[in-house]
Amino acid sequence: MRYLSTRGHPDRRRFCEILLEGLAPDGGLYLPERYPQVDAATLAKWRGLPYADLVFEVLSLYIDDIPPADLKAICAKTYTAEVFGTPEIVPLRELEDGVYLEALSNGPTLAFKDMAMQLLGNLFEYELARRGEELNILGATSGDTGSAAEYAMRGKKGVRVFMTSPDGRMSPFQQAQMFSLQDANIHNIAIAGVFDDCQDIVKAVSNDLNFKRKYRIGTVNSINWARLLAQVVYYFAGYFQATADNEKQVSFAVPSGNFGNVCAGHVARSMGLPIRTLVVATNENDVLDEFFRTGVYRVRSAADTHETSSPSMDISKASNFERFVFDLVGRDAAKARGLFEGELGRNGRFDLSADPAFAQASERFGFASSRSTHADRLATIRDTDKRFATLIDTHTADGLKAAREHLAPGIPMIVLETALPIKFAETIVEALGHEPERPARFEGIEALPKRVVKLPAEAEAVKAYIAQHCD
Ligand SMILES: *Cc1c(COP(=O)(O)O)cnc(C)c1O
Repeated sequence: MRYLSTRGHPDRRRFCEILLEGLAPDGGLYLPERYPQVDAATLAKWRGLPYADLVFEVLSLYIDDIPPADLKAICAKTYTAEVFGTPEIVPLRELEDGVYLEALSNGPTLAFKDMAMQLLGNLFEYELARRGEELNILGATSGDTGSAAEYAMRGKKGVRVFMTSPDGRMSPFQQAQMFSLQDANIHNIAIAGVFDDCQDIVKAVSNDLNFKRKYRIGTVNSINWARLLAQVVYYFAGYFQATADNEKQVSFAVPSGNFGNVCAGHVARSMGLPIRTLVVATNENDVLDEFFRTGVYRVRSAADTHETSSPSMDISKASNFERFVFDLVGRDAAKARGLFEGELGRNGRFDLSADPAFAQASERFGFASSRSTHADRLATIRDTDKRFATLIDTHTADGLKAAREHLAPGIPMIVLETALPIKFAETIVEALGHEPERPARFEGIEALPKRVVKLPAEAEAVKAYIAQHCD
């Protein structure tokens, strides 16, 4: 299997070459040259496999530069009941007739990003050891990504994490999750500023190519292909749990921000998994809903990006969206480049409404979308608690609302549960008048000693800190 860039760069790379990289050299995103097809016999063979074995089967179709025995060991070590809470790893439960919740958030940080990040941590450690290299991961977070990255990389050989976050602006729980880590290779950096300042610093440091090379700076952002690939697997696992045979179709509703999660669904569907509809659920930051309704993709300004009660979906643009659009326009790299580099670069938007390709988004690729508001979230959380005695988080609430708007008779609808309610306790209290239950391992976490340094919102200060902590 070789990987190409959505913007047409002539190079073809192998999995381990793109594993530690972000964008392709031409600014595009990496995709496999083709999607391996999974036939009925394969689905029959996969149904009933333990999760880690299923991961190995799916990954083996995309990775041919790690010996199978090594890859199998990495999968087995990553997806354990100890780390993910249950032997099923992603257990499915029926909420109401034909509507299911697939639990993706029982990993170490209680959000679905663990599903991919835990694998990434083990792949990084493996590949860095093989090359005899080290990597310093620099990131910016306002919550889920940073903690998932830190819990995945803690104690890993050859990897250090430098995670910037806006000082005082994360929820106390999320802060405690990150800052209580005492591992020597994890560095929390609280920046005197907002999230955008953190992102600007990461960009500035990464753009200093000498510094980047000297200190081997890397990232773990959501455009990483290995992360996306890890997420493909739970679409298969959800499908097998919701159906009794491989003839049946199912649909998925996916709380979406950077389009990584639902793009993994698109990949699973493109491989032949019988998915009818992929429902993209957005909050008030409805960049994606607008596209699927109108064909117009319009990046929002910072002023036009809302702070909502499903904050992990608060995006101004969707960084993985280019992958889907590349497929949508028939894998025409020149066209994708024209849209993302040309039109988006010039006008901050592109318009496919008059392009025959746009109709394919729903007709051929099965996409649908919805938008939710804060009031919708409160209502969905209350209703789910009352009627089903089930507490869901704000992002999952956006997914559930979207799911109900796209139900089809006889087609199971699987809502991906992307976080546990404890992570967004404030809104749960607003909806229900009481705090959500907290898993025992997080009792009293806010009182633990914190490991964090405070730095001004200056790239130079962060560079100096990294340089000091790199030997
Ligand atoms: C990251 C995140 C999302 C959005 O996922 P994307 O892959 O960026 O679309 C949704 N919900 C939660 C809880 C998240 O952490």
